Amino acid sequence: MFPRIILKPKRDESLKRFHPWVFSGAISQTPAGLTAGDLADVYSHEGVFLGRGFYNDAGIAVRIVTFRDENLDRDFWRARLRTALALRQAAGLTGRDDLTMFRLVHGEGDGLPGLIIDIYGHLAVIQCHQIGFYRMRELLASTLMELEGLPLAAVYDKSTGALPEKPGLVVQDGYLCGQAQAWTGLEYGNHYHIDPDGSQKTGFFIDQRESRLLLQQLAAGRQVLNMFSYTGGFSIAALRGGATLVHSVDSSRKAIMAADENVALNFPQGAPHEAFAVEAFEFLNTWPRAYDLVVLDPPAFAKNPRHVDHALRGYRRLNAAALRQMKTGSLLFTFSCSQAISRDQFREAVLTAATLSRRHVRILHQLSQPADHPVSIFHPEGEYLKGLVLYVEEL
Ligand code: SAH
Repeated sequence: MFPRIILKPKRDESLKRFHPWVFSGAISQTPAGLTAGDLADVYSHEGVFLGRGFYNDAGIAVRIVTFRDENLDRDFWRARLRTALALRQAAGLTGRDDLTMFRLVHGEGDGLPGLIIDIYGHLAVIQCHQIGFYRMRELLASTLMELEGLPLAAVYDKSTGALPEKPGLVVQDGYLCGQAQAWTGLEYGNHYHIDPDGSQKTGFFIDQRESRLLLQQLAAGRQVLNMFSYTGGFSIAALRGGATLVHSVDSSRKAIMAADENVALNFPQGAPHEAFAVEAFEFLNTWPRAYDLVVLDPPAFAKNPRHVDHALRGYRRLNAAALRQMKTGSLLFTFSCSQAISRDQFREAVLTAATLSRRHVRILHQLSQPADHPVSIFHPEGEYLKGLVLYVEEL
């Protein structure tokens, strides 16, 4: 028996459409003593069972894990992880010689709302965005280690910064199974150092895999600026694709050092690459080279819907700053990973940037998140990454 949360009249519609969130404003009664991270049942005002999930004392008050009245025991979680792995197998991302990194669990997209698990070869990195999963981290780790088809040696928990702050909750990152090693991951034949300890996200931005591959195919003979390079993902792809010069730019000195190390790992004989720890606009204003392929992959400008206008201004300004210096025949890979910004809004911002910079811009490719970051049809909010590959000409 789980504690019962009762909804207000007529507030059961979204759950009937299998949307996994219950907003606090829809709740009529919460049982006494329920605390963040507890499992609870959600009932309609009429007393009909709607779903079972994790309670949180926040705007999204419940994240549903199952719409069935079933046990949430170890077998249940194991089955969810197996299902997640089956999707990656179906998408052709497992058992390959040229690729060892993929996202195994993408929150709501895998029926595990608030949980991220990334695989880097023999290492899994867990990130809990809600306390319920954080409490279960040991169980998750041991279940992962046993999962057939996943040859893991270690599981690292990296939930610091992802969890909401709570009095009394002490969060410390570290290995749940196995121990530290010099981890590397492989993406379409390119190698990357993975340092879950000292890095952003779970260690690597796996979500740009397919876009990096596309860039690799278009980079031959080009001079590339990889702006917001992080550890050099797009830079390695550009060099592999035959770029004649690659500049990586990121404001994080640590990321820039890692980019240099990744270049050395892939091209021990040397490569035409230089990395700069500089702020984006500062660099764009100097524009030291006649780049003819530019990547703009900034961090999320809108962390939530209240920041949309500010973020759109940022995207317009950033894209205009690059476009106005780009010559006829050059390519721009431009991205937004803000969930609160729609595909249309982003495209509109780039349109304005093209107008301001007097560039004729044609869309060659429209990019999004890859198959291992699936979007549940019931939860459109899971779509966050959008990108455009533009062919740029002077007007
Ligand atoms: N393209 C990368 C991921 C980019 S993540 C990849 O493929 O792996 C965004 C990066 O932007 C982070 O590394 C962050 O350090 C950097 N960043 C954030 N604000 C910045 C700024 N104002 N100027 C330059 N870099 C910035």
